[in-house]
Amino acid sequence: MSARLFLAPEQFEFGQARLNTAQWHYLTRVLRLRSGAECIILDGCGKIWQAVLANEAVTLTAELPPPATEWTVQVRIACAVPKGERWEWLLQKATELGASEIIPLKTARSVVLPQTSKLERWQAIVREAAEQSERLVLPRVHPPLDFEAFLQQHPAGLGFICTARGERPSLWKCLAGMRTDAIVTLLSGPEGGFTPEEVAQAQTYSFRPVSLGSRILRAETAPLLALGWIGAWLEAIV
Ligand code: SAM
Repeated sequence: MSARLFLAPEQFEFGQARLNTAQWHYLTRVLRLRSGAECIILDGCGKIWQAVLANEAVTLTAELPPPATEWTVQVRIACAVPKGERWEWLLQKATELGASEIIPLKTARSVVLPQTSKLERWQAIVREAAEQSERLVLPRVHPPLDFEAFLQQHPAGLGFICTARGERPSLWKCLAGMRTDAIVTLLSGPEGGFTPEEVAQAQTYSFRPVSLGSRILRAETAPLLALGWIGAWLEAIV
């Protein structure tokens, strides 16, 4: 299996791409590739090339047909950040499962207030997970947003707010009839849950409260299960 790297737009120039120190170190020291070794380069937006390692750069030798690793549906997950290492674990797993965008939220009951200064680290975790899981498109991690600012800035399209209790339909049932090119936004809450006011506010922005089953899931489990259900639905119908 060839090494694969997502590179930033400014790294590409005339059939070549420059590598930064970390990428060069990864290919030559961690993977022990030598000049002339083959690797796969991606631009994170849907283009993929066969490439050959040269001095602190790669030469793009052929554009490759894109692999079918992306869903036709785009899924944006906006979640309260759980405590400890669980947020970074969530970033990694959501990338593997197929999320297209991840938005860290500050909610009324958030215990962890996500810091914009961590954005580069979070995006690096997502990039590594996307390389490992052979994603074609690199998911974007957004700067943290307050719950209300998120609602104002991100129209739902097809939007769901996962709520742990109460009378609400199953997300699975709500997926029936969804367009295969839909843009779905999933809101998922903190350890203490969303407040009733937040749920009501989300509803005014067209988010539908949904259930993920009868058990109370941890803050990092709920968005991953929702992604899994969307993946299962797509597997069954596409
Ligand atoms: N402390 C809350 C309570 O007891 O009602 C539970 C919060 S839960 C640990 C964290 C978040 O995961 C919730 O805000 C919700 O977004 C999501 N969640 C957990 N279980 C869920 C379920 N069965 N259905 C839908 N969402 C769920």
